[in-house]
Amino acid sequence: MIDMQGVYKTYPNGVTALNGIDVKIDQGEFVYVVGPSGAGKSTFIKMIFREVKPSKGIVRVNNMSLHNLKWKRVPYLRRNIGVVYQDFKLLPKLTVFENVAFALEVIEETPKVVRKRVMEVLDLVGLKNKARFIPDELSGGEQQRVAIARAIVNHPKLVIADEPTGNLDPETSWEIMKILEEINATGTTILMATHSKEIVNTIKKRVIAIEDGMVVRDEHRGEYGYEI
Ligand code: ADP
Ligand code: ADP
Repeated sequence: MIDMQGVYKTYPNGVTALNGIDVKIDQGEFVYVVGPSGAGKSTFIKMIFREVKPSKGIVRVNNMSLHNLKWKRVPYLRRNIGVVYQDFKLLPKLTVFENVAFALEVIEETPKVVRKRVMEVLDLVGLKNKARFIPDELSGGEQQRVAIARAIVNHPKLVIADEPTGNLDPETSWEIMKILEEINATGTTILMATHSKEIVNTIKKRVIAIEDGMVVRDEHRGEYGYEI
């Protein structure tokens, strides 16, 4: 599903964020990405949906080669990837329904298909009864659940979550984790950057630790391994 070999990323300002990454992730895995701030976690994650282009090395996602992918092919890559952010990134003037429907409508589905699929995913995240609300009328946890619904509405093979519980209280964070585990149970690969020691040490999964742009640890059912 994801294959990186000898991947480097140097930003235009000269900062080298990734310094020789070799990683393979199979379809259906649940992987935490951990490490100190500035270690390269976001760069690593952004490279997978081609928000960042490698300076050197081979990146393959879903059988597409990203290092030489043309800009106009990027939407084909992203169709199979759902992304969830720490700050939700919902469109504030659109309802919950519209925020989720947006992703489907851009690939020209019929209104009937859109309604059915959107209500299906809102049901999955427990927000069917709030379809007409706008983001401001929801709690942080509810907003994140909308963002997850939006991320999975196209049945992506991979969901990437960049600190999805970073802005949430512990109780709400566990709810979000339960939903991500349910999505993973349907065969969707989950890649999640996190600073939550509690989550990583409680819900045991593969742990990839990145420091100074390198993978320093890669363990199945691993530990968080840092004090904060
Ligand atoms: P993390 O997610 O682990 O905090 P990042 O991937 O965000 O790490 O950052 C790795 C390094 O790359 C840091 O030194 C950061 O300042 C730098 N960096 C990140 N994004 C950019 C960018 N767009 N331009 C220049 N430097 C960047
Ligand atoms: P390549 O085609 O060699 O893979 P890129 O995908 O980086 O190169 O860029 C191809 C073209 O798309 C360039 O002209 C670039 O300016 C443009 N482009 C790259 N990123 C963006 C973006 N985020 N938004 C709009 N245009 C972009």
